[in-house]
Amino acid sequence: MKIQDIKVDIFEWKGTPWKTNYRNIFGQDVNLSVIRIITDEGIEGNSFLGSSKLGSEHHHKGIVDFAKELLIGRNPQDISKIWNDLWKMNRSLSLNAIASIDIALWDINGKISNQPIHRLLGTCKEKVPVYSSTAFHENINDYVKEAITFMEAGWTAHKIHPHGIPDIDIKICQEIRKSVDSKMKLMLDSMCAYQYEDALRVGKKIEDLNFYWYEDPLVEEDIYNYKKLYSKLDIPIVSTEFIPGKYYSVPEWITQKTTNIVRGDVVAMGGISPLKRLTDLADAFNMKCEIHSGSSNSLDNVANLHVIIASANCEFYEFFPCSGENRFGLSEEIEFDNGYVSAPNKPGLGFEIAWKDLNKTYVATIE
Ligand SMILES: [Mg+2]
Repeated sequence: MKIQDIKVDIFEWKGTPWKTNYRNIFGQDVNLSVIRIITDEGIEGNSFLGSSKLGSEHHHKGIVDFAKELLIGRNPQDISKIWNDLWKMNRSLSLNAIASIDIALWDINGKISNQPIHRLLGTCKEKVPVYSSTAFHENINDYVKEAITFMEAGWTAHKIHPHGIPDIDIKICQEIRKSVDSKMKLMLDSMCAYQYEDALRVGKKIEDLNFYWYEDPLVEEDIYNYKKLYSKLDIPIVSTEFIPGKYYSVPEWITQKTTNIVRGDVVAMGGISPLKRLTDLADAFNMKCEIHSGSSNSLDNVANLHVIIASANCEFYEFFPCSGENRFGLSEEIEFDNGYVSAPNKPGLGFEIAWKDLNKTYVATIE
């Protein structure tokens, strides 16, 4: 089998703005692209490119200008070699573009074998618990109301994206813990907001509140202060989601003892291939790898889910209820049953693209 052509179909994606902190705004009017990798045997692999924060217009040209030449004529089953070649182009091709190609190639490989992608990666579980991940709320009371809503719906874990202001963040955590008592695992994602002293202070407080993990307290290049923080806190630190160097920098973060749990997603790491390598790398150190999801697009969410299902050391699937999880462009979306999501069971990514709806906002095709 050979890759015969690559097309990028571009659509308008109009959203309702929402944010995870003062500056991180999603739900804007952007483009979503469908990547179409066409083979000479009639099998086509697809993925989505673009998020509601950073639309595909920032990435899609690189696929045609730089990646297409590398891909035409290759066997789509040579997926690891292709990813290694794409990674070497990361000065001219964005990570999002690399990820979208890799995911579409995995879609082809699943369709060839008539199996969901997690089967090819090595299935570890049939279902996984979901945690609700908050948006930014102006008022502490809205954070509390959101947590209670999900607790009452039977969900057992909840992650807070606070204001990034230490004293307010501590208050939000205290009020939510008071409201849900011990009925939910609680996590805090400070989104790299603090300097070391504040990070330590907030960390100690949420340790006392029996939080389950402490995510991204410091900026993502600060190995020096992560090491200090790791040595002073008992609560598990979760980091590496978007570190410079991506997958190839994670060994240093692990061996320098900066973090208890590593983290990434298909976009941040550059596809399903490096994300599965990441979960395996963590597993070799008997560490968990918690996968970020929900702030990109619907098929990236699905791709993340396949890796989670195929990795014993991923405990949760992440869901942003406030945003609809950036859901757009599929006929059916990932469903939740009593706080769990099940393994996809159709070939490839296993979720159908809603072409009819997308075509209503068709912009152009580049090839
Ligand atoms: Mg995060």
